[in-house]
Amino acid sequence: MKAVKAFITFDDFYSRAEWVAGVPSSSKIRPEEDLNVLASLEDSYLPVTLFIPGKTVEKFPEEIRHVAHKHEVACHGYEHENMRELSFGQQRLVVSKSLTAIKEMIGQIPVGWRSPYFSANENTYRILSQFGFQYVSDYTSNCLFCCFKILEQLIFGAGTSQIRHLKNTCLINVEVTTPDDYQAYYMKKLSPDKTTSLWKRKLRFASKFGGLFVLCLHPWVEIENPLRLRALSEFLAFAKSQEGVEFIKPKDLIKDDLHSGKPSQNSMRKSVAL
Ligand SMILES: [Zn+2]
Repeated sequence: MKAVKAFITFDDFYSRAEWVAGVPSSSKIRPEEDLNVLASLEDSYLPVTLFIPGKTVEKFPEEIRHVAHKHEVACHGYEHENMRELSFGQQRLVVSKSLTAIKEMIGQIPVGWRSPYFSANENTYRILSQFGFQYVSDYTSNCLFCCFKILEQLIFGAGTSQIRHLKNTCLINVEVTTPDDYQAYYMKKLSPDKTTSLWKRKLRFASKFGGLFVLCLHPWVEIENPLRLRALSEFLAFAKSQEGVEFIKPKDLIKDDLHSGKPSQNSMRKSVAL
């Protein structure tokens, strides 16, 4: 068994369509209920990373500040924008507003970014690098790497991800390694058991070769059906019992292991006007 760094991540925490474009309405589920998902993980403390649009942070600063004591809060656009559809200048404004919201409302400087809809281009990564972000957590779009992943898929029936730097940037790619819960439950229409057995397979594969295991979840998707939440808890118990699997926040991984010899992000961040 090889060492696996595992990340549990939630997108759109506390976000609803009423104030953040592109997030499903889930009108039946109040934002406060998102806390239930975190509470269900509380028994066996697992570090979680929450990717939150800046506008949500501005709307619920106290609530987000409260969870930020325990969990990592990272950027997810300002209004959940599709970055690929924006010009360089527009993207720069979105990144700036998203970063400023967390900095001013929560009092922390976020180091991570996940693109809404996993939609980003070279400009996005260039801008994030200029703003001093340390990692992104998207699906990769690199052709060669995609071929490698397809090959993995064919041979092993599952994919995993190695830690790598994004070309021409100072960013680490903490790539999502599994189909997220939205894809599994709404697009592929899988059952909770089927979904978690897929995640287990991915984790076993990661254990075989070492690397990352990055799970992407959405609070409203999990809450909508109690069976999903139960399956998630069971999966996490399984993951915790696996030898060599360490749950960690991406910012701690970067602090501990990765940025030796890389340009200082803080010095870069100071040079970018917010
Ligand atoms: Zn999102």
